[in-house]
Amino acid sequence: MNASVRPGEPLWFDLTDDQRALLGPLRDFLRTEVAPGAVERDRSGAFPHDLVAGLGALGAFGLQVPERYGGAALDTATAALIIEEIAAVDGSLALTVASHNSLCTGHLLQAADAEQRERYLPDLAAGRKLGAWCLTEPGSGSDAAALRTRAEPSDDGFVLDGSKVFITQGTVAGTYVVIARTDPPAEDRSKAHGISAFVVDGDAPGLIRGTPEEKLGLHSSDTTPLTFERLAVPASNLLGERGEGFRDVKAVLDGGRIGIGAMGVGLGRAALETAARYALERVQFGKPIARHQAIAFKIAEMATELEAARLLVMKAAALRDAGRDITLAASMAKLKGSVAGVNACDAAIQILGGYGYVREYQVERMWRDARLTRIGEGTDEVQHLVIAREVLAALAG
Ligand SMILES: Cc1cc2nc3c(=O)[nH]c(=O)nc-3n(C[C@H](O)[C@H](O)[C@H](O)COP(=O)(O)OP(=O)(O)OC[C@H]3O[C@@H](n4cnc5c(N)ncnc54)[C@H](O)[C@@H]3O)c2cc1C
Repeated sequence: MNASVRPGEPLWFDLTDDQRALLGPLRDFLRTEVAPGAVERDRSGAFPHDLVAGLGALGAFGLQVPERYGGAALDTATAALIIEEIAAVDGSLALTVASHNSLCTGHLLQAADAEQRERYLPDLAAGRKLGAWCLTEPGSGSDAAALRTRAEPSDDGFVLDGSKVFITQGTVAGTYVVIARTDPPAEDRSKAHGISAFVVDGDAPGLIRGTPEEKLGLHSSDTTPLTFERLAVPASNLLGERGEGFRDVKAVLDGGRIGIGAMGVGLGRAALETAARYALERVQFGKPIARHQAIAFKIAEMATELEAARLLVMKAAALRDAGRDITLAASMAKLKGSVAGVNACDAAIQILGGYGYVREYQVERMWRDARLTRIGEGTDEVQHLVIAREVLAALAG
């Protein structure tokens, strides 16, 4: 391990001066304000509006928004490192930050015109309004293009009818990006054709919030079903080209997968650090359990897999910043980051024995939080489908 690495820093490289300057205050905030309440928020499920305000002041809600709209204009690698840092302390807060930045704000950065950017980005970048991104429906998850929410053209825009499920920030958001069908797919086109995206204000009549889900983990992240009933949207709220919105959806998901990979790495890293400290202190059969090879090898495996995952996250981030196609790299980063994260949390529970199964050391909370990363923004199976398709196409070509 690099001797210059400081506790809590990524293992494999030194941060740049700029990254260090950004991460320093964030880490102070995470240590003093976020960490102390993580167990209680997991227990209560209360949404941390005060922490959102604090993180907003640190720029965490405008990670890649241009400075002219009040954003931090960071590169994707630094944005991913910030999500990793937050996840290492509080998985729920990491999902709030990741989904707000990558999905809702990410879709606006991908497709909004100049007027829409002026109207929506400043509030989102400051964290004054949280963003939600509404794709998944009761009948369409992995097969997202099978969605049934309709956007019927009206005199001055569109009228939305339909329902969405599992929407992060569904209750607490002020700005929603909604994916809906405006047109039937042309006969010679896939069913993804005819889908469009709209930006919807949180106080729009006809936007009906359901009851937040009770979940395995990520208890203080808000996950809520939504219904749209005759929800009128002005034509000026159409994002991108009518009927071609699914292209933007795919690009948004590619970017989002980097963040979810980073979230898996962050949760796994926290579990590794907890397990390593515990293994050095816990004595059984006359020596610290870290000196039993079965335990030491688990630590080696966790560290190596997390390092590999972080490298894939950083590779996908670098490709994105270079303007390259990231579909393959983002799927690999998401798959590896989430699986390595969950496996590290699971190994940490094992290393802590009975103490891993109870709440005190939080590794069981980390496992429950990390488990979502293998499902949201495309399941493991969907990542395998994408990776296989991309690899086979490249090798056939
Ligand atoms: C906490 C949480 C937050 C979320 N946040 C959001 C959000 O903000 N916005 C949003 O739009 N959605 C959100 N989602 C939804 C999430 O993206 C979906 O749950 C996910 O994409 C899977 O869809 P599904 O649940 O319908 O599962 P399904 O698609 O029904 O899949 C069920 C199983 O079948 C497998 N499967 C499906 N198709 C195939 C295939 N072709 N080959 C092999 N296996 C297959 C899947 O991998 C999975 O194992 C969230 C979900 C959760 C739990």
